[in-house]
Amino acid sequence: MTLRKRRRTAMMILLAGVVLALLGTDTGWIWLTVPGMTLLLGGLALDAAWVRCPRCGRWLGWNTGARCPACGTEISWD
Ligand SMILES: [Zn+2]
Repeated sequence: MTLRKRRRTAMMILLAGVVLALLGTDTGWIWLTVPGMTLLLGGLALDAAWVRCPRCGRWLGWNTGARCPACGTEISWD
């Protein structure tokens, strides 16, 4: 899987979690809030585990540039 796909998958899970958590908070349905928060954290954890520099292993964070901010290695997103 490419880095771009990993990032997209993690972000979709995170966003689904945000939507569920907000819906749950809005309606007072705790059974929506709890899995929503779990998905949100899971999405973040997946992103931190998947979207890493191939050379130094640093999490690329919200940087989507062509180079790793830590070691300067060129990142291939595709
Ligand atoms: Zn690096």
